[in-house]
Amino acid sequence: MSPVTEEPLDPLEPTAPEPALCLVPLGTNGFFPSGGRQTMSYLLEGGNVPLLIDLGSGISRLIEPDLAERLAPHDEIHVLLTHYHLDHLIGLSYLPAICREYRVVIHAPGPPLVDGDSTALDRLISPPLFPVPLANLVADLEVVSYAGDTLEVAGLHVRTRRQRHAGGSVGLVFEQQLAFLTDCEAESASVEFARGARVLVHEVWTTDAEVAAGAPRHGHSTLEEVATIARGSGIERLIPVHHRPGRREAELAVFHERLAELAEVEVVPAREGVPILI
Ligand SMILES: [Zn+2]
Ligand SMILES: [Zn+2]
Repeated sequence: MSPVTEEPLDPLEPTAPEPALCLVPLGTNGFFPSGGRQTMSYLLEGGNVPLLIDLGSGISRLIEPDLAERLAPHDEIHVLLTHYHLDHLIGLSYLPAICREYRVVIHAPGPPLVDGDSTALDRLISPPLFPVPLANLVADLEVVSYAGDTLEVAGLHVRTRRQRHAGGSVGLVFEQQLAFLTDCEAESASVEFARGARVLVHEVWTTDAEVAAGAPRHGHSTLEEVATIARGSGIERLIPVHHRPGRREAELAVFHERLAELAEVEVVPAREGVPILI
């Protein structure tokens, strides 16, 4: 009788642990600051260095002590830009006040993802618009162009997609966990792009009723369209951003309730300076 041999157990597939991502909204308005809200910028933690998504006026919040503390242990910071409109870029000129001694790496989109390219940064940061050229903005600055459908930024895997917007803008999915879709006319392709992510950050600029009453869209999305994308993509939580400057907080609260109802997901308001665990 042959000895009973036990089948060796299949070794478990080694799975890389998901990085814990934390998103800190710094600026949540589109166009210009108003009512205590700054323009678009977000601090994303969870990679090997802090990552700023866009450089609107919101990055001015990084001199506030609670937020400055989050950068203090580092000497390098990365920036990922979605496009070159000023409400996402004006804060580039604030970097000397925030991280003058840092090494800063800016990931700047180019064609075909957007129509413009990183030369826009040199135009904004040069005399007479700014006293020094871009190269002298901080201690050590590197600008890296990106144009493919994936990239690695701050140790994070990112998928990209060109979105419908004046001049284009880049939709982003970080680590298959966080979809970040701002400055875009809602389109059905966003449903598949965001699928698999737990959290969707999406712009909500207007509503169907406002558009029907003649309000211009300017390459942006309505609340109802965003609800359809959120519901279709299977995400668990929706964070509406890129608010119109005239919106009051009470109006945004009503929008958030309406979104939760239509999208059948949890809606998390983006409060500037308040971290959200993804
Ligand atoms: Zn914008
Ligand atoms: Zn824009």
